[in-house]
Amino acid sequence: MNETGYTEARRTMVESQLRARGIRDPGVLRAMEEIPRHLFVPPDLAKQAYDDRPLDIGAGQTISQPYMVALMSELLAVEPHHRVLEVGTGSGYQAAILAALAREVVTIERFENLARQAAGRLRDAGCGNVRVVVGDGSAGARDYGPFDRIIVTAASPLVPPSLKEQLAAGGRLVCPVGTRHAQKLVVVDHGDGVFEESEGVGCVFVPLLGKEGWSEDD
Ligand code: SAH
Repeated sequence: MNETGYTEARRTMVESQLRARGIRDPGVLRAMEEIPRHLFVPPDLAKQAYDDRPLDIGAGQTISQPYMVALMSELLAVEPHHRVLEVGTGSGYQAAILAALAREVVTIERFENLARQAAGRLRDAGCGNVRVVVGDGSAGARDYGPFDRIIVTAASPLVPPSLKEQLAAGGRLVCPVGTRHAQKLVVVDHGDGVFEESEGVGCVFVPLLGKEGWSEDD
């Protein structure tokens, strides 16, 4: 497929997978229409990049379905002055979408090779406001916090307490919470020391492995 084909596929994705299912945030829709998702998947999967499903990106990990990226980004309600933390860089695609919405994005990934590849793609896509960090993001990224928004793109048994601690007052966090096999999107709002949680749609993410997620042999 040539660039015109990809641009067309992206437009169709936004109309039929996002707008038709109720995604309304203009910034999210614009970012997803502009960011070349096909450059964030392994080259042999580029043609499937705009399909309505997650794809394998290596190391047993996945890039989320476009609708899930849009839904989580919309729920996060990012504003242009925000500093955002993403836990689970994976391909770097979600970070690229956030970079278009926020002032600054810190994204943390436990696999060094995925982090390195994602950093390269983000650079190529011109996302100059993203910092990719290697480490266990289940405990957040204390050196870079606090954050106005935190998004976890891996499934956790509970909202990691360290992430709540690194959430600024007035901040919001979105995290899939549940079992290893099925979760719900949980939204946490931080109103100056008080945390309010609400539960949203069902979802399935790969596990958050680490100190405040699951242990590798659970
Ligand atoms: N947001 C990604 C998809 C994430 S898949 C994208 O847009 O492509 C989930 C990612 O979380 C995987 O890459 C996995 O390695 C990573 N992960 C799992 N546990 C982690 C942890 N404790 N810290 C950082 N990354 C973690």
